[in-house]
Amino acid sequence: MEAYGGRNPQPGAIGGLRRYDSKVNPSACPRPFVYADHRLTCSGMDLAELAEEFGTPLYVYSADAIRERVELLQREFAGTPHTLCYAVKANSALAVLKVLAGLGCGFDIVSGGELERVRRSAPAALHEVVFAGVGKQAWEIDAALQSDILMFNVESEAELDVISQRASRAGKSARIALRVNPDVFAETHPYISTGLREHKFGIAIERARHAYLRAAKLPGIEPVGVSVHIGSQIRSVEPFAQALQRVRSLVEELRADGLSIRYVDGGGGFGIEYGNQAFDPAASAAAYAAAIRSVLNGLGVHLLLEPGRFLVAQAGALLTRILYTKQNGAKHFVVADAAMNDLIRPALYQAHHEILPVLGGFPESERPLVTVDVVGPVCESGDFFARDRTLPELRSGELAALLDAGAYGFSLASHYNTRVNPAEVLIDHGQARLIRRRETLEDLFAPEVV
Ligand SMILES: *Cc1c(COP(=O)(O)O)cnc(C)c1O
Repeated sequence: MEAYGGRNPQPGAIGGLRRYDSKVNPSACPRPFVYADHRLTCSGMDLAELAEEFGTPLYVYSADAIRERVELLQREFAGTPHTLCYAVKANSALAVLKVLAGLGCGFDIVSGGELERVRRSAPAALHEVVFAGVGKQAWEIDAALQSDILMFNVESEAELDVISQRASRAGKSARIALRVNPDVFAETHPYISTGLREHKFGIAIERARHAYLRAAKLPGIEPVGVSVHIGSQIRSVEPFAQALQRVRSLVEELRADGLSIRYVDGGGGFGIEYGNQAFDPAASAAAYAAAIRSVLNGLGVHLLLEPGRFLVAQAGALLTRILYTKQNGAKHFVVADAAMNDLIRPALYQAHHEILPVLGGFPESERPLVTVDVVGPVCESGDFFARDRTLPELRSGELAALLDAGAYGFSLASHYNTRVNPAEVLIDHGQARLIRRRETLEDLFAPEVV
């Protein structure tokens, strides 16, 4: 079995045809999507067969790949009391949440809807839920209080007052952390950076001490932690260390003020390699953990982390069938049956996803390489998966896989252009299971009246 090394196919002249370089380094980017006899597989399952059975566009996830990532982080933090609170919004499929809960994960939620997802997939994990979000509504706060979640990550002083009122009414006490905004710059796409003063998230760290002292006097409020989340797809560990250094100072001040702070929530945001550079998740996880542990060393807190992307992105791919190819002037277009409504990351963040042919791939494919735009059927010029990308030729009727689509893929899907959402399959214990059927047009129209 030849692993796809995460490298772009290298053109090489073989008998007049260019072909992929088969000497890719199998460990350069460990993804569960590998070729066996020129057929792309995921955890031993043949993707062309899955596409036949379940249709396209189709999200396919590997439970084993998710487990591997969770276990990596758990191993790295083994010496530190910690809980991984998986960020539900990255991939909120109930079956995926159940796998994560089975590994001992808690959850980071940002809405009452996500709370309900945890209840339906892993009710025992409700006590391991942290609830973030700048706009929590009264019903969401009530539901979280009834579920006795671990902690609210409070994003404003006004929200604190509302939680205090709702908790008092219910005769409950809400454990809270303030989400502090550490004013740390994290090198990532501006839409997914959250830790600067200019962003809407959290409470300015200079103001936090004052807010905590006020919180401590509010009925129904028990300040137990400090939380921070600086953004997403952050590849270097320094911003995490910087942010947590500021959090540490705050915890020490708050303790001096007499508050008993037992949790530090370091948020999520740890990134992955989407492209063709070497990526070693184990080494990355080790560096991330080392940075965090050294900053928090001796503080005596229970560490919470909210990884999303790092755990699930590379465990998933979006399978699509090529509908047409066409040429407009000098441009070649490959029109797929998946579109921006199925996977919006390229349109929203100019994100890169590797694209592989499902059949006839490594190591000895003899497809010519062509420079193409891979686009979807949606009526937007932003509806593309790749622009001017040199890829093995994809012909109409063939299947392609968009890699690293396990996070912020289906969870960001919409019905734009009145398109139904794709089906999702989870491969676990050598079996492929449909975990969400493809929607029908009837599903789409159900809430509407004429
Ligand atoms: C989105 C989000 C996360 C997860 O971010 P990833 O980049 O997927 O790890 C964690 N915590 C909060 C508060 C978030 O908003």
